[in-house]
Amino acid sequence: MNPFHNDPTDYIAYIFFMDKTHYSPDAYHQMKMELTERNFNFDNLNQKAYIRLVIKDLFPGWEKQVRKMFAALIAHGWTFQQPLDYKESWGRLIFRGFYTDVTLKSEQILNQYIKIFESTCGHCGSRKNVESYGHEYLCNKCILKRLKRMIINKIDPNGFSYFSRTKKHRVLWTEIDNIDWKTDGYDSFAITLNKFSPKEELAKDYHEGDSILFSNESFNLFGLLRNLPAYLLSESQADEINSLCESLEECIICRRKSVLGKMINKKCLVCGTLTEKLENPTETNLKRFGSWQRMIDHKKKRFRWYIQNIAIIRYRYETDSSFK
Ligand SMILES: [Zn+2]
Ligand SMILES: [Zn+2]
Repeated sequence: MNPFHNDPTDYIAYIFFMDKTHYSPDAYHQMKMELTERNFNFDNLNQKAYIRLVIKDLFPGWEKQVRKMFAALIAHGWTFQQPLDYKESWGRLIFRGFYTDVTLKSEQILNQYIKIFESTCGHCGSRKNVESYGHEYLCNKCILKRLKRMIINKIDPNGFSYFSRTKKHRVLWTEIDNIDWKTDGYDSFAITLNKFSPKEELAKDYHEGDSILFSNESFNLFGLLRNLPAYLLSESQADEINSLCESLEECIICRRKSVLGKMINKKCLVCGTLTEKLENPTETNLKRFGSWQRMIDHKKKRFRWYIQNIAIIRYRYETDSSFK
């Protein structure tokens, strides 16, 4: 099968025409075959189409700024034969310049707009309180909206509430048939609450909400774990989950009860500190900071910076009641 078979036509057209360096000659040939198969009209690719494809490829909230950038570039003689060179690398969108030689002015315009993009919400286009969030740039309002959907709440002996996409759901424990529990034995956990047995699953159509997955990205995960009814867990699941919940220790940096006390590194799930390294500091680190106390003070200061500047850390610190 053609390796581009599952990609959207616009995307293949975009990389086929503009990105002449990242793929092998063979790959370009396959892109061309795929586009021909889809009756793509090669004559339709012009400046307007190129700009449309770039806009579609970048974050939707940036559209206004991207259009302004192209208007500025065009006003200084740029054409779509000098395509932009950008790609996602290490989870970040990086602008590297242009694929061809351009004027100094074009370089300056791009650099000026990179700064604007990085302070424009990729979702709503707001330019207020924008931070980098994963590989995106989002304003605080949009980040909060996303974080709120990762919260599990109203956890009690009857059940719990959670969000899927934008909808809030109430689930009763009596609706749950069985549980899958996964851990990498380090600092990542996932629990799936299944409403049907594997046999029933096979016999029915898939329906969103039949299986509810939470990971350590979810807020209040440990509150949920502590309230799982015993009858839903196998003996080994109960042992693993109980000993994990009981192993949480207080973090000397953020003061939440969120350190994985029994795991290597003893990572704090709120501030990310590897507390094992603080308890057994290397000579180099002690020398670097002057003393153990000064090393701790430095970490605490850095944590205060995180709280102010990184929404997900601030949100977990403030709202995850399972660590309080
Ligand atoms: Zn926004
Ligand atoms: Zn911590």
